[in-house]
Amino acid sequence: MKTEFSLAQLADPDIAEADKILRACVHCGFCTATCPTYVLLGDELDSPRGRIYLIKEMLEKDQPPTEDVVKHIDRCLSCLACMTTCPSGVHYMHLVDQARVRIERNYRRPVTERMLRAVLGHILPDPKRFRAGMMLARFGRPILAVLPAPKGPSSTPTLLRRIRAMLALAPRSLPSPGPAAGTVFPAIGPKRGRIALLQGCAQQVLAPRINQAAINLLTRHGVEVVLVRDEQCCGALTHHLGREDDALARARANVTAWCAEAARGGLDAILVTTSGCGTVIKDYGYLLREDRNFSEDAAKVSALAKDVSEYVAGLELRPVQTTNVVVAYHSACSLQHGQKITQLPKELLSKNGFVVKDVPESHLCCGSAGTYNILQPDLASKLRDRKVANIASVKPDMIAAGNIGCMVQIASGTSVPVVHTIELLDWATGGPRPGSS
Ligand code: SF4
Ligand code: SF4
Repeated sequence: MKTEFSLAQLADPDIAEADKILRACVHCGFCTATCPTYVLLGDELDSPRGRIYLIKEMLEKDQPPTEDVVKHIDRCLSCLACMTTCPSGVHYMHLVDQARVRIERNYRRPVTERMLRAVLGHILPDPKRFRAGMMLARFGRPILAVLPAPKGPSSTPTLLRRIRAMLALAPRSLPSPGPAAGTVFPAIGPKRGRIALLQGCAQQVLAPRINQAAINLLTRHGVEVVLVRDEQCCGALTHHLGREDDALARARANVTAWCAEAARGGLDAILVTTSGCGTVIKDYGYLLREDRNFSEDAAKVSALAKDVSEYVAGLELRPVQTTNVVVAYHSACSLQHGQKITQLPKELLSKNGFVVKDVPESHLCCGSAGTYNILQPDLASKLRDRKVANIASVKPDMIAAGNIGCMVQIASGTSVPVVHTIELLDWATGGPRPGSS
């Protein structure tokens, strides 16, 4: 794609990067076929190619984003299916991230939307605030019935429909908090590794059992697990809201904490059980590339970051039972498109006694996408219903996924238990059956 940035514009490293990305696009449109919003809406401007044109124009003209540009960028899930499909290697993720930052800085949203985004950005990344928010949301559940239900996917979501979506996702009860930051779980038997396990933000409130399963499995297989003190939310949630300063501050804090831990006791890896976070941490090296004080350490952290399934695949698990449970494996977008991890979790499950079923249309997002299911409830509910119907078609006993956002989203539309892949692997190797404790 031909671009027309001035030399002065190209002196900005972000614009230079955008220019490189835009020039790689040959407008072939292959990406439209796998884009969930294009599949639902059939509008070119809700396709990757359409959005790339909108972003190009916004950056070239260097003007505040228009309402139309914001509408179509907001509808993008950042699912990255387009990156998997694109034959030219267009790095859509870095382009749309840049567009979101520009929108956040230069576009004045309606007051209710500004308030909602501010609340989400304030509460979600902080486990204490998030826990308090979830407790409050439980009291709000009785009003769900009087709030407006999701509408057609092309309608503009109202504040009330967004509040309804938020309340509907809140669990009826919350589990007790997991272990505190700073805890070290020693390896059982001969020690073969030492890792930091990302504690996460929303996940540690909604499902501390996931990291507990990872800790059980890892220590049982000789790996010491550290919950690093001073670690923060990875920044993914505010990054996707375009709040770059907040996201980068969190990235710097984590780079500092993990590098200090690596210097103190050594780290073979930083493991992540929420693939949405893993995609962003693996990108810290890029996000902090212009920061002379952090670029080197950020690149080291990105190289150490692994999805838990990647690390576990190197451990030669010792299954103690064959379950023959039929598992529908839901491939989270951040895992399959963001980190290109597609077969590994399924192979691990199969090798450890599960009957794994592929879900039809597995490339399509479930509609969770960070805060998307709250901010775009109409599109998100359509995608969830489609995903749940596809999962139901393989008649599973359980559904496995590697991302808490997907787990919550899918569980809101089905009665089939939704568990994390690591919970199943822990069960197969001597841990409790998921949901039994
Ligand atoms: S598939 Fe790639 S090159 Fe083709 S239009 Fe989409 S982004 Fe551009
Ligand atoms: S990230 Fe997903 S929703 Fe956004 S343009 Fe690409 S395929 Fe479409």
